[in-house]
Amino acid sequence: MTIAANPPGASDIRPGRLDSATLNANFADLHPPLTFHEAKVEAERCYFCFDAPCQRACPTAIDIPLFIRQIAAGNRAGAAMTILDANIMGGTCSRVCPTETLCEEACVREAAEMKPVTIGQLQRYAVDPVIATGKSPYSRAAPTGKRVAIVGAGPAGLACAHALAVAGVETTIYEPREKSGGLNEYGIAAYKMIDNFAAREAAFILSVGGIEVRYGKALGRDVTLGDLRRDYDAVFLGAGLGSTNKLGLPRETELENVIDAVDYIARLRQAKDLSALPVGRRVLVIGGGMTAIDIAVQSKKLGAETVTMVYRRGPEQMKASRYERELAQTNGVVIRYWARPVSLEGHAGALSGVVFENTHEHAGMLASPGSVFRIEADVLFTAIGQRGAPEALDGAAIEIKDGRIVVDAERRTSLERVWAGGDCVFGGQDLTVSAVEDGKQAALSIAAALGAARA
Ligand SMILES: Cc1cc2nc3c(=O)[nH]c(=O)nc-3n(C[C@H](O)[C@H](O)[C@H](O)COP(=O)(O)OP(=O)(O)OC[C@H]3O[C@@H](n4cnc5c(N)ncnc54)[C@H](O)[C@@H]3O)c2cc1C
Ligand code: SF4
Repeated sequence: MTIAANPPGASDIRPGRLDSATLNANFADLHPPLTFHEAKVEAERCYFCFDAPCQRACPTAIDIPLFIRQIAAGNRAGAAMTILDANIMGGTCSRVCPTETLCEEACVREAAEMKPVTIGQLQRYAVDPVIATGKSPYSRAAPTGKRVAIVGAGPAGLACAHALAVAGVETTIYEPREKSGGLNEYGIAAYKMIDNFAAREAAFILSVGGIEVRYGKALGRDVTLGDLRRDYDAVFLGAGLGSTNKLGLPRETELENVIDAVDYIARLRQAKDLSALPVGRRVLVIGGGMTAIDIAVQSKKLGAETVTMVYRRGPEQMKASRYERELAQTNGVVIRYWARPVSLEGHAGALSGVVFENTHEHAGMLASPGSVFRIEADVLFTAIGQRGAPEALDGAAIEIKDGRIVVDAERRTSLERVWAGGDCVFGGQDLTVSAVEDGKQAALSIAAALGAARA
């Protein structure tokens, strides 16, 4: 990624568009935690449904009526254990799950009153004190002597490692970055994960013991799948996705300030001082998913004057939910639908604008009537999806579809003794909660295959 400073007359990009106090306010917690009283009132709204639809809608199948009943009865610690038993990343999920399309969408109060029980908020109320102790409440079964290699310390890898540790299986995680957490640490919007929560939760998970993390080690560079299969009883692949898709337009890689949104967000998430981050005055975002919304909202919160998001289809086809679109709009982001970029314009080697053509759908295909328009911009963020990185598998005989690993219901790959989960597998939801579920299910299957205690 290159983001240029602005010589006179060129693109308007500079750090410190807002003072520190404003930045702190802008990046404060999106949903501040519930107080004791608020949690009690909210918990009492639950109907404690039998065969609860919310539980069926949660990818990790947390027993939601039970944990809410425990909160209502004043048993906060018990509620935390109900959640963590099903989802060891219940803390992150309570902050980042798109609940409006998962558990809360299924809540019967949503159907009746359009006001669901705020399950995510209650989940956070329950688990936060346990995570704040920094100590795992779980103990490990007696060592089985079995060892498993895990590729990637993201939600999938950590969930798998934790469940295996509890089953008495030792794990070694290979992780190229300096910190655990994957996109919890480097990707998710800063205002959803304040106060270094990703790192605190990862430390909490690792405190169960029996998990070694080898930082700075990448599959395909420092170790091969063949090495791991030789040296361990089983392997779990949880390396997430690789690089972001390109627009495929001329000058895309040569113009300054055409930036991969995921790279910039990683920089934002790791910034010690947000006022030192260079920010464009007029920001354009191309894409229609969570990453596009996140970069658009965060650009506005960093002080961009205008932020325009352009998506090639309509709101119904957008991956971002209605809630997320509204979040962007209430933060001052303009969303333009039914247009796609056709060329990038530059001045003195840096982006100056983008030409779009209008689009519509014809017989299920995207078509254009031929009309175009131009939007001037200092920065263009591309957020049109990420690709899998099967090259790290170095030609291993694993079935791949659309760049992602094919797995069965137990998250087994086509290669013996190799499991996979999270964003790197085909057909998933690309959410933190589903990555956690994949890691958990794979651990159950691995433990059974190795004859270890039930994970
Ligand atoms: C900008 C952005 C915002 C998002 N916001 C949300 C949100 O609000 N809510 C939500 O539910 N989901 C969100 N998601 C999706 C969510 O973050 C992912 O679905 C989830 O992190 C997937 O977990 P994972 O463990 O599969 O992969 P990752 O989180 O990507 O973790 C993979 C890990 O593997 C490591 N790795 C990579 N290559 C190798 C290699 N060769 N060898 C070893 N290790 C490797 C990586 O460094 C990383 O630590 C967002 C994603 C993005 C990009
Ligand atoms: S993990 Fe996510 S989907 Fe499941 S109950 Fe919690 S907030 Fe809802």
